[in-house]
Amino acid sequence: MNISKQKGTKDIYSDDILIWQFIEENIRKIAKKFNVGEIRTPVFEATELYMRGVGDETDIVSKEMYTFLDKGDRSITLRPELTAGVVRSYIENGMNSLPQPLKLWYIGNMYRYEKMQKGRYREFAQFGTEIFGSASYLADAETILVSSTLLKEIGLSDDIVLSINSIGCSECRKKYIGILREYLKPRIDNMCDSCKVRYNKNILRIIDCKEEKCNHELKDAPYITDNLCDDCKEDFSNLQNVLTNLKVEYVIDKKIVRGLDYYNKTVYEYISKDLGIAVGGGGRYDGLVSTLGGPNTPAVGFALGMDRLVLLLKEKNILEKIKNNVDIYFALFGDTAHLIGNNLMQTLRNEKNIYVIDGDISNKSPKAQLKYASSKNAKFVCIIGQDEIDKNICIIKNMETGIQENINLNSENIIKYIDNN
Ligand code: AMP
Repeated sequence: MNISKQKGTKDIYSDDILIWQFIEENIRKIAKKFNVGEIRTPVFEATELYMRGVGDETDIVSKEMYTFLDKGDRSITLRPELTAGVVRSYIENGMNSLPQPLKLWYIGNMYRYEKMQKGRYREFAQFGTEIFGSASYLADAETILVSSTLLKEIGLSDDIVLSINSIGCSECRKKYIGILREYLKPRIDNMCDSCKVRYNKNILRIIDCKEEKCNHELKDAPYITDNLCDDCKEDFSNLQNVLTNLKVEYVIDKKIVRGLDYYNKTVYEYISKDLGIAVGGGGRYDGLVSTLGGPNTPAVGFALGMDRLVLLLKEKNILEKIKNNVDIYFALFGDTAHLIGNNLMQTLRNEKNIYVIDGDISNKSPKAQLKYASSKNAKFVCIIGQDEIDKNICIIKNMETGIQENINLNSENIIKYIDNN
């Protein structure tokens, strides 16, 4: 019996991998422009990191983690998100002694045992950025700018809405939770089972429940955004000014509270207009570094779901723009032609590093070689067989026009020909 891939995982190759690479190249370019350094942390961590960091009442920790005992009886978890891991690394490596604010980006696979739907997998990748050591709304704005610049660069700005909200500091949130609890008390019995559990464990999350009957009960619910303390109000308004000044489009969505426990003040989500689901989200988490045993350090960050960005780009026919077309394919017939052809290809690769160069490595028939070149969208094919070697020429075929020409068999001539055509 053949072995299949696990549910919720996928193999990425052929056209799809080109879209992944396109996004990854843009991520690297943008991270560099914003002077953000890369960080790579382990795929598995101690389970306790997520219990304490993400919150043991959250859906991720309570239902979705890949947790197991290793051979040394340690409880290990495949990372379901990367902020907790980056914070662990920040503390463990004493990064607070580096110049602050410290800006870090990452890309990597995450693991959540989820019900599968379009754009929802059990292994998926996130690109994220974290900024440590700045309590200012300017750092919040910077994370929004990095993520929205990426969306713009890859051509998705018009397909995605940025929704922002503030969930306040611990003071105003505590007060608000009291108000919300009072409002929900007579209504909670009419709400869904998940909300009933959330009422005692994670009450803020009730606000973004998508169930119809809950929505009905939430019709006149108070929002945290309307119950912020003066400091948080000013902070949120300053952030909006910066975004407006930077011409970053956003809407305020009072229902955004985010699923993870560690957020405070600014929270935001990028929602796909087409799929109606989030492609990314982020926010401020000033308490997390100290919760995990580090020094008091304000922090803010976001994560974008790579798989969902790929889905959106696929629907926009991005491939035509980014396909890796071969500039010149060497069709070679016979051992001597392969020796000469290999040399020419290496010379061209060294001298013209922008060219994409490919050539026969399996002694295919002439027809098969031309068919292969055509399948790779080769612009030119350079044909070399014994006849051509005897005359010290090669045949260059322009695959678009079908025109063939004989030119002298040396790299300068081939380069000149391609450059001029
Ligand atoms: P979160 O860490 O839950 O805030 O998720 C941040 C982003 O990661 C989401 O907006 C999605 O784009 C992506 N994401 C989260 N869970 C999954 C999943 N199971 N499959 C694919 N992408 C996901």
